[in-house]
Amino acid sequence: MVTILVENARFLITMDPERRIFRDGAIAVENGLIADVGKTEVLKRDYEHPDIRIDARRKVVTPGLIDAHCHITEQMLRGLTDGVFAPSAVPRHWLYESSLNSEEAFLASKACLIESIRCGTTHIMDPGGYHLDEAVKAVEEMGMRAILSRSLIDIHTGVQPVPEALRESTEKALAAGDEFVTKYNGYSGGRIKAWFSLRTERSTTSELGHAVKELADKRGVGVISHIAASHYWTDFHKEIFDGLTPIQRYEKAGILGPNLLAIGVNWATDEEIEMLRKHDVKVVHTPTNARLALGSLQTGRLIELIKRGITVCLGHDGAGESNSGDMVRAMYLTAVGHRDVALDPTVMTNEMVLEMATVKAARALNSEGEVGSLEPGKRADLVVWDATRVDWVPVLNPISNLVQSASGNSAETVIIDGKVVMQDQKILTADEKDILAKVEDAAKDLTERSGLSKYAASKWPMI
Ligand SMILES: [Zn+2]
Repeated sequence: MVTILVENARFLITMDPERRIFRDGAIAVENGLIADVGKTEVLKRDYEHPDIRIDARRKVVTPGLIDAHCHITEQMLRGLTDGVFAPSAVPRHWLYESSLNSEEAFLASKACLIESIRCGTTHIMDPGGYHLDEAVKAVEEMGMRAILSRSLIDIHTGVQPVPEALRESTEKALAAGDEFVTKYNGYSGGRIKAWFSLRTERSTTSELGHAVKELADKRGVGVISHIAASHYWTDFHKEIFDGLTPIQRYEKAGILGPNLLAIGVNWATDEEIEMLRKHDVKVVHTPTNARLALGSLQTGRLIELIKRGITVCLGHDGAGESNSGDMVRAMYLTAVGHRDVALDPTVMTNEMVLEMATVKAARALNSEGEVGSLEPGKRADLVVWDATRVDWVPVLNPISNLVQSASGNSAETVIIDGKVVMQDQKILTADEKDILAKVEDAAKDLTERSGLSKYAASKWPMI
């Protein structure tokens, strides 16, 4: 049995039901689980000889951040969607995904996970991709906790046609999703789970959606789907589905339910939000794709979702949308963006945002009993933040500093499932330099081969 004792934390933020924060806090980990949380003087007595002792003096300890919307294989799309409206970026996504080979998908996944761990993320949720065997392998090797899903699409034409290589019939998509869930749900000692992905509302027939929901209920897993992220897609959806909005149609087809995680929901009426509430649908907000002018902040729908009691969590999206996998940036943008839009500094508190990246996310991912807070019996996923850095000092209120001041790169030590995956800012589960060098080469090759390289062209002369 491996025992870890993290001790002397200046602040240990538990996110337990009482939201206790321990000064001079400590946490003991045994065999992957949190054994105890409390004051250092007490835990030091009870755990005299841990196998690993981590000194968190002048540091801040939190639960690991949960990134509930992370396109893991998309990392090499970084920098290729600047200055375009989201729907105009979609053909670039399709070109990328249909050109990506297995080796590139593996490297992209590894780079994505390195960035996530470096920024304090311990759990990701991928909303649907391809080359899943490689993605699973990358997650397994890096020691990340993840829910992965295989993209299911059975509408191929429309404003942004799906490339030939990714086209499937309803039956084939359903079988591929089921095969993936059967193979990988509960994989790697339970650290990896598998869900179904209805990739987008406009690429899913009601037949596929209904069948997937039934299968997900039967298998006890969730379904994730991009829904109503942009007014452009909502309008297109109404055109092809007899005037129904995505949420109206999903309700009619029996797809709404507590195990549905809806990505986006920037464009939903009060009535549609009520439908989501009634079915206890969860929502993941991705403020970082505001750079593609989706309306993520501007519509202010997030505030309404929260007011109605809907569980909302956070995600960074993918490198093609956000250009950054830093969940601390996502928290910052959520906090300040919605205050500004609402002209109300109290509408989105730092505490609400940290809940969305931890306990609320755990609920949204149906993992409430396992992760999201530092409580005995839960899996040991935690971060030691280097609060001695200039972006943290002075630490008067650690939650304010984490959400408003810090960079994700101040994550110093990261533990996932009771295993130290980064210590003193050194990734222990991968040869980081080697992987990133390979990613540089692979990205050059992929973007030139696919024709995507022109989208990275500099507007200024490069000499
Ligand atoms: Zn997405």
